[in-house]
Amino acid sequence: LFCKIANREIPATIVYEDDQLLAFEDVNPQAPFHALIIPRRHISTLNDIQERDAALVGGLITRAAQIAKDQGHAQDGYRTVFNCNRGAGQTVFHIHLHLLAGRSMNWPPG
Ligand code: 5GP
Repeated sequence: LFCKIANREIPATIVYEDDQLLAFEDVNPQAPFHALIIPRRHISTLNDIQERDAALVGGLITRAAQIAKDQGHAQDGYRTVFNCNRGAGQTVFHIHLHLLAGRSMNWPPG
């Protein structure tokens, strides 16, 4: 599914893209601002990342922080989440970093 978004076969509101990464708005937002940051290369879950993917995964986090700044959420705060496998709520099996902002967040998460 997210490969199709990366290939522009399924429309999405894209907030950032480069040759490695894509960030787009979640279709079912859980906060006033909710984006997903994905690698273009298909990796199913965090269980599948390897040492050689460290820069790629680090790039997702770096990009999330930059988007949060660009959108004006850095000061108030935001949440970033990777859900890994069904027990954690993962429903789309292409790794994605959730970036949620624009409201206060509770801890622990549900
Ligand atoms: P997960 O539950 O796997 O951590 O997160 C998957 C996220 O992808 C959910 O927040 C869901 O709303 C979002 N999502 C599922 N299908 C689509 C889609 O076709 N387009 C967009 N933009 N988001 C999607």
